[in-house]
Amino acid sequence: MVAITDVLMAATAIKGVADATPLVPSALSRRLGGDLWLKLETCQPIGAFKLRGASNAVAHLPAGASGVTCCSTGNHGRAVAYAAAARGLRAVICMSELVPEAKVDGIRALGAEVHIHGRSQDEAQIEALRLSRNEGLVDISPFDDPHVIAGQGTIALEMLTARPDLDTLLIPLSGGGLAAGMAVAARALNPDIRLIGITMDRGAAMAASIEAGHPVEVEEVPSLADSLGGGIGLKNKHSFRLCRDLLDEVVLVTEAEIYAALQALYYEDRMVAEGACVVGIAALMAGKVTPSPQMGTVITGRNVGMAQFTRVITGQDVILGDLTVKGHPYG
Ligand SMILES: *Cc1c(COP(=O)(O)O)cnc(C)c1O
Repeated sequence: MVAITDVLMAATAIKGVADATPLVPSALSRRLGGDLWLKLETCQPIGAFKLRGASNAVAHLPAGASGVTCCSTGNHGRAVAYAAAARGLRAVICMSELVPEAKVDGIRALGAEVHIHGRSQDEAQIEALRLSRNEGLVDISPFDDPHVIAGQGTIALEMLTARPDLDTLLIPLSGGGLAAGMAVAARALNPDIRLIGITMDRGAAMAASIEAGHPVEVEEVPSLADSLGGGIGLKNKHSFRLCRDLLDEVVLVTEAEIYAALQALYYEDRMVAEGACVVGIAALMAGKVTPSPQMGTVITGRNVGMAQFTRVITGQDVILGDLTVKGHPYG
């Protein structure tokens, strides 16, 4: 399926597009009960780690492919657009009419064509399927693709090369491409390492699927960790099995815990990061993960909505659908 050799080959294939990022000690280490190392994927050109998987998939397109497509409006869409442009390939990102103009412009600015189709993500996906059937474009999944998984795995390769003494990895978990790839690499380099997938406690499809023993659908609800929303696909082929088999544990955190962790990362480490990045810190702060001497986590992306981020760091309430996260100043 996906093995350490695939991750090693990915490391070579993505060079020059998605480069190595810094691994820095967190100022939160002392209060968290062990050293915590932050892998700064916020330093990637598109501000998120998804460029690793997308650029590896683009480097391994089948013969005859004329370009790539996908239907993500978030970090994956940006990654596919950037990776294709870097190799001089055509990229078409499919979106629904409901996607805000700013996101559409952001993707276009990265050099991709945008096809607006229908009024939902599902209808936009139909356009991506049509393009892959009729125009020879390859539809790249954000997480359920062996090349994407191997690309994301290079994060763990770099972390454990820089710090072989890391004994725990706290990995943000959504579709599981990141966790699957990192787990393949980390287990190969250190069979004893503790691997913990972390996600929010509402609308967590991978956690529910592992619990059920097969991929299930869950209702998507708004979250401070919006990059962790979305399903894993009922026909999931790769990321589900790898996460189920390789992760030691999956831990869920509340929106209030994510809120507090965003403040902590901002005020102690002076970092602007998405809610998805701080779930590991949130789990440690809430006592849901037992600390160990040398822990690592991934600061996965910095593409925050500035209005909501400002509310969090200034201690105001945040409304997420039917849930209000009560505001409070840091500390
Ligand atoms: C996609 C994403 C994740 C989760 O990655 P998966 O491979 O879907 O589990 C975490 N953080 C950010 C910022 C992301 O864009």
